[in-house]
Amino acid sequence: MRSTRNLPDLLNELELTGRSRSHVIDAADIGCTLHRDAMSAFLVMREAAKGAGLDLRVASSFRDFDRQLAIWNGKFRGERPMLDRAGNALDVASLSPEGRVEAILIWSALPGASRHHWGTDFDVFDAAALPERSRLQLVPGEYASDGPFAPLTSWLDAHMHRFGFFRPYVGPNDGGSPRGVSPEPWHLSFAPLATRCSNQLTPQVLYRAIESSSIDGREIVLARIEDLYERFVADVAPASTASLAVELGDYRRMV
Ligand SMILES: [Zn+2]
Repeated sequence: MRSTRNLPDLLNELELTGRSRSHVIDAADIGCTLHRDAMSAFLVMREAAKGAGLDLRVASSFRDFDRQLAIWNGKFRGERPMLDRAGNALDVASLSPEGRVEAILIWSALPGASRHHWGTDFDVFDAAALPERSRLQLVPGEYASDGPFAPLTSWLDAHMHRFGFFRPYVGPNDGGSPRGVSPEPWHLSFAPLATRCSNQLTPQVLYRAIESSSIDGREIVLARIEDLYERFVADVAPASTASLAVELGDYRRMV
């Protein structure tokens, strides 16, 4: 495996934490915003999947800090539904500020720490397999062997690695990390870039982004930044060897 430790920083600190969008480009026709190398690889993979009858679409790609902040503060204030690990609604009013921070992080990233800030990660589904008149829910059941996206899951298992993609939120045996983020079989990451971003995103970088923001629960988050970083940011499945072997720009000339 090539080491990414000695490469220069890929993104500046504002880009890395979603406070700038100078590192991403838009593909308006498919509603997708990514770093150009992740975009190239995705578009080539999308073409390959078409041959298997799949219509790969992106439900969410680049997301900025302010968007993540709105999600966070909405949950913290009880303006958006908050769910426990089993997917049941939580009564926000009954939770302490510490309890709210813990509960939000099961399903939503800390602003500044979302992999969606990097332009390397996105949530994928198969538009051709979405049952008529039903809405995409992004729940594990849709991607399981008896769900509508089972063919997508199998196809990705077999092919995504050679395009540079892996699933950071699906561990061995399909479990998420027991202490951290819940399993997200729809979330793909472009390993050649994302590995460098994850090396760059330290607790100190995150601290600085949170410190200068208007996030609810800021003092709690800052006081516990090392612990939250370990459990909810660093604790992801490693990139596969095959996905890491893809060279940056391999797919650039093909689109
Ligand atoms: Zn995602």
